[in-house]
Amino acid sequence: MTLYIGLDLGGTQVRAVVAEGIAGGSAGGYPPPRLLGDASRPTPATGRPDDVIAALADASRAALESADRELHDVVGVGCAAPGPLDHHRGIVHVAPNIPGFERVPLADRLSAGLDGTPVFVDRDTVIAAIGEGMAGAARGERDYVYVTVSTGVGGAIVSGGRMLRGATNTAGELGHWPVALEGPRCGCGSYGCVESFAGGRNLAQQFGSRDAGEVFRAARGGDERARALVARAEAALTNLAIGLVNGLNPSVIVVGGGITEHEPQHVLEPMRRGIRARAFSIPAAAVRVVPAALGSDVGMVGAVLAAQERAAGRGTWFA
Ligand SMILES: [Zn+2]
Repeated sequence: MTLYIGLDLGGTQVRAVVAEGIAGGSAGGYPPPRLLGDASRPTPATGRPDDVIAALADASRAALESADRELHDVVGVGCAAPGPLDHHRGIVHVAPNIPGFERVPLADRLSAGLDGTPVFVDRDTVIAAIGEGMAGAARGERDYVYVTVSTGVGGAIVSGGRMLRGATNTAGELGHWPVALEGPRCGCGSYGCVESFAGGRNLAQQFGSRDAGEVFRAARGGDERARALVARAEAALTNLAIGLVNGLNPSVIVVGGGITEHEPQHVLEPMRRGIRARAFSIPAAAVRVVPAALGSDVGMVGAVLAAQERAAGRGTWFA
């Protein structure tokens, strides 16, 4: 039996699943992989990358143990990591939410910690887009955009069946698409970015609450300031959606992330309304705005599928 491990390296925890390999080509997509076991570990905040890599290896071995399987049956490991990163060499340039995680040859070092099993690393949003394209809401589509609206806002673009990577592999940072001529300073140093209006961290900060959920609750309760912030977040997402439709002509915009999951009427609906009202009519009629299908497991499930595609040498995702 061929097994794959899917890993999701997040700011607070690392999660691992073990899944069976699926026979078949990439043209029509896959059914979601059957998960045999899983495990998670807190992400060490020691500032030492080796500790994080050890936690990833440990979670991998624990997931195998929970599946009652052996490492020597694993043909590939996929790892979703925060970017920017070099997916060819598996080097993370910098992981903003993991202290000290800079210029880390993650694929090589994790492979060494897993008895030489090949490890493939890619950006978390790219992995999510591959997962949704192979086995989720964009299955079988060749032109789609993945957007996540969560603590931050991010994305990935698939055009003509190829992952859009750009000249330095940083394409798809949709959270920092400017949608306003002015606005609050964004974490990236710019202003007017989608994320500065619609990212959960920024929404909470601007309202003075612990999390974005409180902002939406307050808005429902009639709080004027909360309502204005939510309306502004909706407007930012609307502008992003119109830009994506006019600029890229996707057939599907898949929207995931915690805020989308909990507040779909404040994310999906304004995007749909904005596209209908303001985007070019021909691409507007051709696009669907849909919720992501793989939920909070998208990192691990996507990593399994990405590892399988990469092991099979299908280059359209990884060129
Ligand atoms: Zn920004």
